[in-house]
Amino acid sequence: MLTKIITEDNIHKAKKLINRSHKIVIVVHTYPDGDALGSSLGLWHFLSELGKSVNVIVPDGYPSYYKWMPGSEGIIVADRQHKYAGELISSADLIFCLDFNELRRTAILEPFLRDSKAKKIMIDHHPDPVKFCDVIISHPEMSSTAELVFRFICRMGMFEYVNLFCAECIYTGMMTDTGAFTFNSNRPDIFFIISELLKTGIDRDAIYSRIYNRHSVDRVRLQGYVLYNKMKIYEKYHTSLIALSHEEHQRFNIQRGDTEGFVNIPLSMGDIIFSAFIREDKDVVKISLRSKDSFPCNRFAAEVYGGGGHLNASGGEFCGTLDEAIQKFEENLENYKELLVLNH
Ligand code: 5GP
Ligand code: MN
Repeated sequence: MLTKIITEDNIHKAKKLINRSHKIVIVVHTYPDGDALGSSLGLWHFLSELGKSVNVIVPDGYPSYYKWMPGSEGIIVADRQHKYAGELISSADLIFCLDFNELRRTAILEPFLRDSKAKKIMIDHHPDPVKFCDVIISHPEMSSTAELVFRFICRMGMFEYVNLFCAECIYTGMMTDTGAFTFNSNRPDIFFIISELLKTGIDRDAIYSRIYNRHSVDRVRLQGYVLYNKMKIYEKYHTSLIALSHEEHQRFNIQRGDTEGFVNIPLSMGDIIFSAFIREDKDVVKISLRSKDSFPCNRFAAEVYGGGGHLNASGGEFCGTLDEAIQKFEENLENYKELLVLNH
């Protein structure tokens, strides 16, 4: 049996909103990851099974290795279909906000969401939600938003509407947000949920392979270049940094998603507990942070770059040059030196 996490009140309110809605939209955060896509497509399959008219809208593109996900062909990418995304949001009577908890995270969609009169339901697992939704299902202790979507459906007593496609999407979200169940995955409920998903016929091994074993030659060579030439180690702080310039992105023909996962690699070293990956985009510098144990990389992201995220996985954006972003990172290590210590 699954422990009851989502309150009866939230389930009651959400169910009422779903029942009376005809046009539903699901939105996620910018640079959609496996959990944003998995949770939104999982919910999309469920609501479609209920007979609802529903669309998934993402602010911008996502890595090609998620394109196998059932339902992804219908996703509306707002920076390519801006007008259509706006029309769908303004005519929706219910909007699900998945895997983010502040409107700023929806980038190009933010003005549409601010103007929308639709009721809104947040389902999310990031700390400190901003209260812009009518129903807030926010549980930072959960592995993923996809896990919450599964719980949401079950708590409404509708598990029979979880078909194979829905289950594949939910599993993908849970898997990618836990590094294939290597962190944030100690609660027994997670494995109960997986066993329920397996009953629908999902193939865990195949899903793992579709995400993690589909790299191009270019991507694997880039990984070699990055680790050999670009990784900087700050021994005193048990920290590493990889920074890639816009010029390097062009030189190596880097596509969206090609650098995904690089930030985790330095944590495979026993003496590294904090890892940063900084990449220069066209108009912004994007920061990705990861940590082991109790080092709060979300605090670092918030204090240094105005970003946020989870204890061990966070990010932010920096408006300035790549060198300035790196300098800021290095300067702040000293402020965190008491926390940048080995526990083993
Ligand atoms: P990633 O490094 O994969 O882009 O992001 C890791 C985590 O940090 C995710 O949980 C994501 O939601 C969060 N995150 C990434 N960028 C930002 C940001 O600019 N602002 C906030 N608040 N969170 C972010
Ligand atoms: Mn997530």
